[in-house]
Amino acid sequence: MRNLPLARLFAACSLVLAPCHAADKTPPINPGNFDSKTKPGVDFYRYANGGWMDKNPIPAEYSRWGAFDELTERNNAILHEILDEAAAGKAAKGSAAQKIGDFYASGMDEAAVNEAGIKPLQGELNAIAAIGKYSDLPVAIARLHQLGLGGLFRFDVDQDEKNSLNQIVQIGQGGLGLPDRDYYFKDDARSKDLRAKYEAHLKAMFALLGELPEKADASAASVMKFETELAKVSKTRVALRDPEGNYHKMPLAQLDQIGAGFAWSGYFLALGAGQPVEIDVRQPEFVTHVGELASEKGLPLDDWKTYLRWHLIHSAAADLSAPFVEEDFRFYGQTLTGAKELRPRWKRILKETNGALGEALGQLYVEKTFTADSKQRCLTMVEDLRTVLGERIRQLDWMGAETKVAALKKLVAFTVKIGYPDKWRDYSKLEITRGSHVINILRSNAFEMGRALAKIGQPIDKTEWHMTPPTVNAYYSPNRNEIVFPAGILQPPFFDAAADDAVNYGGIGAVIGHEMTHGFDDQGRQYDADGNLKNWWTDEDMKRFKERSEAIVKQFDDYVAIDDQHVTGSLTQGENIADLGGLKIAYNALEKALARKPAEEREQKIDGFTPQQRLFLSWAQVWRNNIRPEALRLRLNTDPHSPGQFRANGPLGNLPEFQAAFGIPAGSPMLRPGNQQVQIW
Ligand SMILES: [Zn+2]
Repeated sequence: MRNLPLARLFAACSLVLAPCHAADKTPPINPGNFDSKTKPGVDFYRYANGGWMDKNPIPAEYSRWGAFDELTERNNAILHEILDEAAAGKAAKGSAAQKIGDFYASGMDEAAVNEAGIKPLQGELNAIAAIGKYSDLPVAIARLHQLGLGGLFRFDVDQDEKNSLNQIVQIGQGGLGLPDRDYYFKDDARSKDLRAKYEAHLKAMFALLGELPEKADASAASVMKFETELAKVSKTRVALRDPEGNYHKMPLAQLDQIGAGFAWSGYFLALGAGQPVEIDVRQPEFVTHVGELASEKGLPLDDWKTYLRWHLIHSAAADLSAPFVEEDFRFYGQTLTGAKELRPRWKRILKETNGALGEALGQLYVEKTFTADSKQRCLTMVEDLRTVLGERIRQLDWMGAETKVAALKKLVAFTVKIGYPDKWRDYSKLEITRGSHVINILRSNAFEMGRALAKIGQPIDKTEWHMTPPTVNAYYSPNRNEIVFPAGILQPPFFDAAADDAVNYGGIGAVIGHEMTHGFDDQGRQYDADGNLKNWWTDEDMKRFKERSEAIVKQFDDYVAIDDQHVTGSLTQGENIADLGGLKIAYNALEKALARKPAEEREQKIDGFTPQQRLFLSWAQVWRNNIRPEALRLRLNTDPHSPGQFRANGPLGNLPEFQAAFGIPAGSPMLRPGNQQVQIW
């Protein structure tokens, strides 16, 4: 099934990393990866990575291939061994190894999955077919949501944005099959073509459900019409970045009123959520339109049933028999991302196992890969960077004393999580067998829904993690005011125990700084030390922050990524601010580390490069990648992170330290025009 996006977490480096056990003899900064024909002042990204880019075409199964992906593949090899061993079937019933082994084995039994076809979902298809009146809809949708299927809107349980001690129900916009609301309206030839291909995909999926061509055509058109209705009242990604604009706490009676037409009370009851006392209706206009569509004056009941049938098979397609998997890949893999081949089955099932049982798999993973020493060294670096950020906040010339006190209070309050949870998730109530793969997945989804429902009205569990240990990524959570680094990312080239400090500060150091800065980006700065959405800024300081962040928006708006398509500065500003702050903090932390060394070591060159130069080279190599045009366009439309080349080059152009380290002449393309460098943190 599709992984539900962790919409509330402003995850950092959505690119990936890998493990330390592979004996990698290449030096941490490999001159063989450079492009000697490009000058550092012209395009530093190309200078540092051009050789690598030329030698590393994108593998057929990938839409993008970069440092993160190389590491993910090495990580996959370790996880593959763990899963093969677990699937050998010697583990005790109910143990973590039994669950991941059986989950993996049932997914790998392709013959059984193909033989079953759509059968595991027949009960759900029957339930949709049995919808006889509008008032049946809330219960039918609750049933799909319980199993992690279906669409229409998002149901979540998370911290109340303004009371971080309490968890409440959240209802938000959702239910689209295309990657973003804008895809339904854009008028250019490429967008029209994409919509035609989407409609063809819908038709093909309905045909796989047994509909004759004429009926499948009508079904596809009906889904397009339905989703366009939802898209009309969906906010843009930029509008979704405003936490205050997407917070509307209300009692259930008020939701029933603004969303009249859809029986919300009935939906919650059927879902097992009881009657929630208060709900954060994140996008009220969306809920109002759902109510209108779900009433007699709305869309015909048959259109509703067609829409639900589509989202049922759409959610499950990747786990069904080969024809569904292939058709799903044709649109979501080939058309949208340009990938040429489906990933091998073991990689797909491995990813699903991590999604369903990540803390069981993660337990075995960290035993093999993550040492107490690694954890300690990372913790030391985090504290080092926290100290530097604190010093920088104290010295900021644009922020007043009052706001600084609150900013420092927030920084001190950061919780730091490294490697893996102190308390592992208890999967004892989740039954996993060697039977149907789809049923295992539905059980796992229902288990997660049960965990979510149990949180309503409860304080948060501070030990909980929102990424699994093998994940090659990191996140900052504004509600929990915590930074989290799974074991998966604490490996080369980000963190390499054998490398010099400069390489580690340019890699994991900048990532740690990036996550910290998220606490102070366009969104994070609106939450206080306790994780509550609450203003702690003076008007004057807020104005100065906005001037600076607007300059970053403008800088990235100017970047042309492909053809005439620019980066969207407003969408990517949080990540761009975090990259700039993270790199600046990492640079200062390296300076401090160097100052502690004997004088003769401070300026010691390695392979002809000073420590400062190596820090910037390490930073740039983390972002190296080759990407297919389709995937690049998709990311430009949906990803809050800028493309790799701009993540590398964008912050560098703002740092006088970079200019000095490489002796970049004034007026070089890498520098901001007129040398208008922006500093925020
Ligand atoms: Zn980030």
